[in-house]
This record gives sequence, C-alpha cells and structure tokens, in this order.
Amino acid sequence: MNRRRSLLAIAHMFAGLALLPLTKEALAVTALKKSKADWKKILPEQSYAVLFEEATERPGSSVLNAEKREGTYVCAACNLPLFKSAQKFESGTGWPSFFDVMPDAIGTHRDFKMILPRTEYHCARCGGHQGHVFEDGPKPTGLRYCNNGVALQFIPANDTLPALRT
Ligand SMILES: [Zn+2]
Repeated sequence: MNRRRSLLAIAHMFAGLALLPLTKEALAVTALKKSKADWKKILPEQSYAVLFEEATERPGSSVLNAEKREGTYVCAACNLPLFKSAQKFESGTGWPSFFDVMPDAIGTHRDFKMILPRTEYHCARCGGHQGHVFEDGPKPTGLRYCNNGVALQFIPANDTLPALRT
C-alpha cells in the first residue's frame, strides 16, 4: 500500500509538471538548436564568423549602412525578423544602427571583451550574435543597437519574408 501511494504521488507530480504554463518567451519564439558545424556549412564565411564566433565586421563595410527603403531586417542565420526599417537611424558609426528592436526578437548578456562592460545581444531564436546595445541612442528609447550588417538580411516591404530556417 505504501509503495502504491508513493507511485501515485510521483504520477501526480509528473502530471503537475505537464500542466505548468509555458513562459511568454517560449510561446513567442521557439529556440532553434543547431551546432556551430552545421551553421558553418550553411552560412557565408563572414556571416558565420560574426554570428557564431562573435567577430565584428569592419566599420563602413556593410551595404546595409546606406539602406533606406521600407522593410524588415531578419537574422541572417535563422530568418527571424529582428528590426523594422522604421527603427533604423544613421548613427555615423559605420554599422547599421537601430533605436529599437521587434518584440521578443533578441536576448542579451554582458561581456567584458573591451575592458568596459558592454551588452551583447543575439537572435532570440538561434542565438546568433548580432551586435552590442549602448545607451547613447536617439529618442524615444535612448538606445543604440549597433548591428553587424552580415548578421542581417534586408527584406523590402513588398517582398515576402523568408520562412524561418529549421
Ligand atoms: Zn537567428
């Protein structure tokens, strides 16, 4: 009887776990897990180096600096939409810059590579490194998302967004 009770207790515990509500993040974006080796096979060399080895592209090198059309900037690895053209501004830094990001599109962490702490951000879906966010941007957010162009793909407003990579 004791043994039966404890089995029941365990069964109830698992049933309870299955009913836990999903977090908001989990509902919004389902993580895509791929190995670095897989990404290396799929992506152009420079995009891979930035997205999965945290390299930084040479300032002024991205064609996206001059991109002024209406549209969406998607992650160059998994195609998750990250920025709208209305969130872009000319920062003069030589990197595509945005003052805001689409909801639930990125995750962040602090890094200390440049001695002073910086906030790194990455695609919420595939974890690919995009850039760093600084607090010297324009209104209304005061933020400057300094993004590597090779980590993004621009999709003009009239074109269909690419399917999320699986
Ligand atoms: Zn991604």
